[in-house]
Amino acid sequence: MTAPVTPVDKPRPSPLATAHAQLAGAVEILGYSSGLHEMLATSRREINVAIPLRRDDGSTELLRGYRIQHNISRGPGKGGLRYAPNVDPDEVRALAMLMTWKCAVVDLPYGGAKGGVTIDPRNYSKLELERVTRRYTSEIMPMIGPERDIMAPDIGTDEQTMAWVMDTYSVNKGYTIPAVTTGKPLSVGGSLGRATATSRGVVHAMKAALADAGVGLNEVRVAIQGFGKVGSHATRFLAEAGSTVLAVSDQYGGVYDANGLDVSSLLAHVKQTGSVVGFADSDPIDNTALLALDVDVLIPAAVEGVLDEETAATVKARWVIEAANGPTTSAGDQVLADRGIIVVPDILANAGGVVVSYFEWVQANQAYWWTEHEIEERLEQRMLQAYATVAQAARADGHTLRDAALTIGVRRVAEAHQIRGLYP
Ligand code: GLU
Repeated sequence: MTAPVTPVDKPRPSPLATAHAQLAGAVEILGYSSGLHEMLATSRREINVAIPLRRDDGSTELLRGYRIQHNISRGPGKGGLRYAPNVDPDEVRALAMLMTWKCAVVDLPYGGAKGGVTIDPRNYSKLELERVTRRYTSEIMPMIGPERDIMAPDIGTDEQTMAWVMDTYSVNKGYTIPAVTTGKPLSVGGSLGRATATSRGVVHAMKAALADAGVGLNEVRVAIQGFGKVGSHATRFLAEAGSTVLAVSDQYGGVYDANGLDVSSLLAHVKQTGSVVGFADSDPIDNTALLALDVDVLIPAAVEGVLDEETAATVKARWVIEAANGPTTSAGDQVLADRGIIVVPDILANAGGVVVSYFEWVQANQAYWWTEHEIEERLEQRMLQAYATVAQAARADGHTLRDAALTIGVRRVAEAHQIRGLYP
């Protein structure tokens, strides 16, 4: 059986417009003043840097980089560093804002921040990426630090990137400061369980949402868009939990099997070839067609804006678990809500990554490392607690899980801001 194929490259709506619309919805529910709304809608600090890069062939090139702290009322800025060709200040602003609400929803003592470099990392050597990372870090040095703003991996960056950031920062300060980044390799103060934390958190959130309807993980058919750090581990964990994974995709395309993919062979194929594409015993499917598959659960785990008015109308899943940041536009969200599809929003569903980042930072600050079991247990506890709080608020107020999560996150940030008062 051949799955339908549709074009993938239509322009994505602005993630900042989506983030602003979500905030406006929460502000309306909370009845905040326009002054408070404006404060919550605006980044606290932004830095925009030029990154001159010496390429391996001797030529030079100028890249642009950003670090944006959306809010630091509840603690230091926290958030990932993204390397992607479409990174621009508005995208980083949106992602920083999402980090603020996300950290507040899972009750971490952090604000929200994000960084980015406009680069397609696939076109650069490891040595070039190291030079980009070190120069970017030097340029944003005054803004970051374990008490100021703590970085983590995001799309296009990984453990190695975090080690370079940590090293550049530490060498400049004159001593080793592991807590300036999270998502580091274990050998330089990383935490057990961090690499898989976002995916585990996604599965915890999904399990809790399904349980509300009396459904188990082993009873559902799932499609997962995105097979990077988050999607690939989520696929594995879901297969282990007995879910049937019908389709997965990455930036090169997707694969589909109406009877369920053999996930361990698929993982071996990806390890060998670098993509899900071409996996034997499956049909090709593109990223848009995957969203419309007849499954119980759809997990967007790639980029922003994929569920818009048009694609949301094609979704057949009963649950959408947002493993990516900002995968649903405001119009798409409305369509999903009108159609009775339950959306577990990004700021809740994918918060497992930043939860274990917090554990890594706590461990680094104490110079005392926990066991994997302690980390997994505390992660599950945090995720289930956050889900229960959000789901209860949604039921009590008749809101969607997204509105409930946003309202809780925004309220916690506003309360911190108000109780601190204005200076001067
Ligand atoms: N980049 C991840 C996110 O969007 C992790 C952020 C962090 O751990 O600081 O949630």
